[in-house]
Amino acid sequence: LTSLTDEARLVISNLADTASDLAVPSVRLGITGLARAGKTVFLSALVHNLIHGGRLPVFSAAAGHRMTGARLQPQPDDAVPRFDYEAHVCALVKDRIWPESTRQVSELRLTIAYESASYFYRKLGPGKLHVDLIDYPGEWLLDLPLLGKDYATFCADALSRARAPGRADIASDFLAQMAEVRPDAEEDEATAQSLSRTFKTYLAACRADAHALSMLPPGRFLMPGDLDGSPALTFAPLDIAHDAPPARAGTLRAMMERRYEAYKTHIVRPFFRDHFARLDRQVVLVDVLHALNAGPDALKDLEVALSEVLGAFRPGKRSWLASVLSRRIDRILFAATKADHVHRSDHDRLEAILKRLVARAADRARFKGAEVDVLALAAVRATREATVKHGGTELPAILGTPLPGERVNGESYDGETEIAMFPGDLPEDTDPLFAKADPRNEAAHARYEDAQNSLQFLRFRPPQLDTTAEGLELSLPHIRLDRAMEFLIGDRLA
Ligand code: GDP
Repeated sequence: LTSLTDEARLVISNLADTASDLAVPSVRLGITGLARAGKTVFLSALVHNLIHGGRLPVFSAAAGHRMTGARLQPQPDDAVPRFDYEAHVCALVKDRIWPESTRQVSELRLTIAYESASYFYRKLGPGKLHVDLIDYPGEWLLDLPLLGKDYATFCADALSRARAPGRADIASDFLAQMAEVRPDAEEDEATAQSLSRTFKTYLAACRADAHALSMLPPGRFLMPGDLDGSPALTFAPLDIAHDAPPARAGTLRAMMERRYEAYKTHIVRPFFRDHFARLDRQVVLVDVLHALNAGPDALKDLEVALSEVLGAFRPGKRSWLASVLSRRIDRILFAATKADHVHRSDHDRLEAILKRLVARAADRARFKGAEVDVLALAAVRATREATVKHGGTELPAILGTPLPGERVNGESYDGETEIAMFPGDLPEDTDPLFAKADPRNEAAHARYEDAQNSLQFLRFRPPQLDTTAEGLELSLPHIRLDRAMEFLIGDRLA
């Protein structure tokens, strides 16, 4: 691995820590998305490409050779875990395995030295920008609406979701166990633990590949961070009649209610106040292909989750969140990740599907003054493109090394063999995908199945990096990562 010594190569002398560093402007960029959306890979690849002089033709500071150096520096917040960049890059580049995914909030400071594009600013000397990258689970954003709900309302919402057609089967164990529990029975730790465990098992099953659902609050139940097992994470919804009197002290319901309130006070609020409220810009990564693969319920659920996520970016003036915001998020990028799973001709279609998913919510955010962009990207491109002759015709295919154990048509791969595959086409017409998931609407269903069945996704190993004639490893290949960089920080390096 050359990366760490290499980093020094690009550092210029005037990037040294000096007292004048205090005057260096900074931008705080949040990186979020639901579990396995690609946050860790995105952040690692973004930094790696900036430090290693990656191919970034759309990122104007790099394309114009105005970026004179980029390096990691100590982060400003001492109480936040550091994003383990070195370990993640080592996994990607040296071991060619995917790094460990995001489980909690973490931070990394990248300092970029650049020459301004403007004659006037160039005269003032070289510029410097601290980019503070904050990686956190998107599940935690889905907790914001809980702040406005009391325990009884949380229960009513959670149970109506659990009883809905797409979920009732998955929730059957939880619903059955809950039906056995009397809310006004005496409080009991074992019952609270057992019901909470079954509730979490149901949420985890909803998230599993087969269903790929997204709206699964409370967020910490699936992404506990370092708080696993604490009482504030040991509650569950109970079946409370809407006209029931307030909970009596000493009952199971009072116990659950107390814990639910503790969850909001000690977990949700501090996260929004200490981390979220200080962001300037935000990228929301979305694994659209994963939801598409799982079916219309997954896609619908993702749409709801994304609109909740956007809700956090445009809080009402009198809301609690607005009162703690120290800055205003002025740019939000929604990015469909893993675009290297489909052929280049489908990248625009992938983008179009994500645009549909965030359309309504994004319009509202734009109204509030934030600039919103949507694109399809691969932070790390694990495949190459090729044309393969098939029955006399040339077909566009992708080449990649499937992860060990991946199976296609009954064949299992060893993680060493490169194969060509036809990933299938994404639909040009997005309507069938968004036709209501209504079992009576057979025509819409058939069209969805048509659109979906032609797709085939495999997980590939990270790519083997090319080396230069001098034996130096080049930076990680990507798709449109430079477009994302340009939107997120390009103007700050102008
Ligand atoms: P996180 O939970 O949001 O941090 O997700 P990760 O960044 O750990 O990504 C989850 C998984 O998605 C990885 O282990 C990879 O298998 C896959 N992945 C993420 N980004 C890419 C990408 O750009 N290309 C490909 N082919 N796979 C990716």
